[in-house]
Amino acid sequence: MGGRVFILSAPSGTGKTTVAKRLLKELSGLERVVTYTTRPPRPGERHGTDYHFTSKEEFERLVKEGAFLEYANVYGNYYGTPRSEVERITASGKDALLVIDVQGAFKVKKELPSAVSIFLLPPSLEELKRRVEARGFKDENLDRRMKTALEEIPCARYFDYIVVNDFLDSAVEKVKAIILSYRAERSRVLEELERVLRNDEIISLVKGGKCYVEET
Ligand code: ADP
Ligand code: 5GP
Repeated sequence: MGGRVFILSAPSGTGKTTVAKRLLKELSGLERVVTYTTRPPRPGERHGTDYHFTSKEEFERLVKEGAFLEYANVYGNYYGTPRSEVERITASGKDALLVIDVQGAFKVKKELPSAVSIFLLPPSLEELKRRVEARGFKDENLDRRMKTALEEIPCARYFDYIVVNDFLDSAVEKVKAIILSYRAERSRVLEELERVLRNDEIISLVKGGKCYVEET
């Protein structure tokens, strides 16, 4: 089974990237999937860390090769989640974090029903607008992003979890709790028992002992 895929999605400007950075700092065993985009880097963004920045031609070649688990056109640029990265992370036993837009979240959920989808909600539209404006670069698509947000917010109803990103600390704690709860799932713990528990007696009792309530 390996690690799980967590999808963090929200209207642009809600705080996905900010929440994701905190999660990655505070939770070990979680790795963000660096996605591909055809949009140019913003000041301070680094190739291979924030995105794999790529040309439209290269992106289209990767689409043809089936390299993307999903891809979408967001505000005129292409964005895509590399399938191989998701597989590499989960096969290593780590959880994969996808920070992607709402349409991408639906596509991943359809392809990978075991993925856990989390929708971050802004506390208000006024605050959302403030946050988009506060990002420090001139946003070429502010009006479009705000209009799109009105169509994306109702999609929250289709997600597994909804977290309001009002106060950052509290939103981060909630998302962490969601991820941690999946790490305590029976099937996952049983699969990883030797890694999470260093005691042979307990391991052999859990794996091979008789449960007195059900089995005697
Ligand atoms: P997204 O990745 O969803 O587009 P960002 O993470 O870039 O959004 O956040 C947009 C802006 O909102 C940033 O300036 C960020 O610092 C700010 N922000 C994020 N979360 C909060 C919060 N809980 N309270 C106040 N500001 C926030
Ligand atoms: P930005 O241009 O602001 O970095 O990103 C625009 C939107 O595209 C954000 O909502 C971001 O999360 C999303 N995004 C980033 N990578 C991907 C991806 O691989 N697939 C999809 N569907 N959306 C992505």
